[in-house]
Amino acid sequence: MTAGTTSAASVAFDADVAIAAPLPVVGRDVLVPLVTGGEVEYAALDYGASAPCLQRVWDDVAGYLPYYGSVHRGAGYLSQLSTDLYEQSRATVAEFLGLRGDDTLLFTRGTTDSLNLLASVLPRGTRVFVFETEHHAALLPWRRHAGVTQLAAPSSPAQAVAALEAALEGSGDGPRLVCVTGASNVTGELFPVAELAEVAHRFGARIVLDAAQLAPHHPVSVADLDVDWIALSAHKLYAPFGSGVLAGRGDWLDAAEPYLAGGGASKAVSRDHVEWQSGAARHEAGSPNVIGAYALASACRAITEAGPAALVAREEALLARLRARLAEIPQVRTLELFGPESARVGVLSFVVEGWNSSRFAAVLSAEYGIGVRDGLFCAHPLVRHLLGGRADQPTECGSPDAPEGQQNLNAIRVSFGLGT
Ligand code: PLP
Repeated sequence: MTAGTTSAASVAFDADVAIAAPLPVVGRDVLVPLVTGGEVEYAALDYGASAPCLQRVWDDVAGYLPYYGSVHRGAGYLSQLSTDLYEQSRATVAEFLGLRGDDTLLFTRGTTDSLNLLASVLPRGTRVFVFETEHHAALLPWRRHAGVTQLAAPSSPAQAVAALEAALEGSGDGPRLVCVTGASNVTGELFPVAELAEVAHRFGARIVLDAAQLAPHHPVSVADLDVDWIALSAHKLYAPFGSGVLAGRGDWLDAAEPYLAGGGASKAVSRDHVEWQSGAARHEAGSPNVIGAYALASACRAITEAGPAALVAREEALLARLRARLAEIPQVRTLELFGPESARVGVLSFVVEGWNSSRFAAVLSAEYGIGVRDGLFCAHPLVRHLLGGRADQPTECGSPDAPEGQQNLNAIRVSFGLGT
């Protein structure tokens, strides 16, 4: 299954539904006694922020730690071994993401870093088209480097496609880039990526997919979706912090100045001149995060071996169960752009009438052993839109929430995955 074709809503709630065993994750044995004193099972349901590390990743990284060395820099055994593992990791992740043969895969620090990197290589005069429903990592980097056209929050996948079509029509023939999320970090809803890519290409534009929330939940194929670039973060894909990916077409990457200047990116240096590398090395200056890349590749292998289709089916069953339970509580209002029947991943936000969201989330953790996220989820315009406010009004990060009983400025988010 690929994004845009799967209907999570098609899975009806059924208490007897067979839910496949999750992949083991680390930390539950520590977290449960730490938070609850061991009395109740603690449910950490904030995978959308960071997912727990798979046991398999932990084991692989532990096995490699005694042997790490700096890559591409030495004839010694440790350097050679690390170079091999680093490049094998690149190949593993490329296969996991269904890259085309001539795509470039860069290891980065995460999605935010990846999209800032892409913004820094945009050809002069590029205009970027982005829905205002994006996570700030996908909304903001372009403002520093390009002209930006912000598209209003779409009301359905079809309307998103129509809005992009209307925006690109008559937008000239200069370089244009569309940036879209695969799955919203607020509502979990899937955007019609393949259709948006088709529209972008029909008008001569390119498209980058923010797969930070999509890739942990769904198989993703860059070639099948026909997107030009993809960005994601390892810490949402069951590997630790500090690594991520920007992958896709190499031409803009090779034509631009390196993202960082330094060793590894430079081929030949004299007092007045520097010749830069091409390919991945051009934008990976400095000693790379070999362990992060290795951990990400390990997670990709574990998910592939477990069978992504079974994991998707399991998550859809969990989601259906959650939605059915929430629907029994009249005070709960779930937040959706496209409506309750929309296809989505295991991410869901809601408000509870009469409750301040931050307080509600605190009570869930302290009294019920359920860890969720509250706030604006680094998507201020989207959350404001969903709560009935105006997307063009600024909201300060960390601004105080409404007093209990008054209209919520914040929402509550539940998100889950393999270890749930
Ligand atoms: N894009 C989406 C949809 C996200 O949910 C997030 C993080 O929550 C990001 C981008 C940014 O990811 P990171 O903080 O790993 O750079």
